Amino acid sequence: MDLIVARNRADLVAARREGTVALVPTMGALHEGHRSLIRQARVRSDQVVVSVFVNPLQFGPNEDFSRYPRTFDDDLDVCRAEGVDVVFHPSVEDMYPPGRQVGVSAGEMGRVVEGASRPGHFDGMLTVVLKLFNLVRPDLAVFGQKDAQQLALIRRMVADLDVPVEVLGGPTVREPDGLALSSRNRYLSDDDRKVALALSRALRAGAAQLTPDKIRTAAHEVLAQAGPKLELDYLALVDPATFTEVNEAYHGMAVLAVAARVGSTRLIDNVTVTLNPA
Ligand code: AMP
Repeated sequence: MDLIVARNRADLVAARREGTVALVPTMGALHEGHRSLIRQARVRSDQVVVSVFVNPLQFGPNEDFSRYPRTFDDDLDVCRAEGVDVVFHPSVEDMYPPGRQVGVSAGEMGRVVEGASRPGHFDGMLTVVLKLFNLVRPDLAVFGQKDAQQLALIRRMVADLDVPVEVLGGPTVREPDGLALSSRNRYLSDDDRKVALALSRALRAGAAQLTPDKIRTAAHEVLAQAGPKLELDYLALVDPATFTEVNEAYHGMAVLAVAARVGSTRLIDNVTVTLNPA
């Protein structure tokens, strides 16, 4: 079956088939990380819809909305190769008609960690994800653990607002040297890329420890060795459901998350760690 490109609600309705539908929301510039989510969607559903939409609502005024990579023709090739059924690619005007007032609030959980660095980001992200759910009406939706706080907030929204969709998470896909794949990696110079490796290395060093203090110290040591080209935004060790910092007595799974600027590119990464195992 040929890949269908849907640009609005009417196109989506026309493309709908019998059976289960899985949605993979993306901002395009598709890479192996996105492909792994598409494959997960493929095996779980009859029809796979990939949305490609750079959502202005989730970018701050001084962020990279205008220079975010847009490679739609290549994205279509990737989707064809992965057996995607429908690519949903609306315009900003179609998604946000004039007069818009109402959106989703991510609450306190949207104001910590990544949300503290990017005010309003998670409100904008949840608003577009809920709109995509309402437009596509998927049975399930797949998101990457690479954006751990985003995934946790989407689970929270689905629970808090009774959204009838099953949410699946997919593991972070990395380059062989550990760098997490990201659409923004294309902006790294060769030298930046070497510096950027400190993020995943720091997370690995942290994850090798068992208590919060040791984890934070081990990760900070690696980040400090990266030199001045790496501008650390945060290193956070948080409860995976609430994204609040864990204390020394915390037991169980936690997320070690890092954000840093390397050159003009802001990168994020995280790993899951087990604290104070019995
Ligand atoms: P984006 O296009 O960056 O908005 O990402 C779209 C989806 O792909 C989100 O659910 C991301 O978490 C996920 N994603 C991005 N990078 C990766 C990666 N390296 N591995 C797995 N999933 C990813």
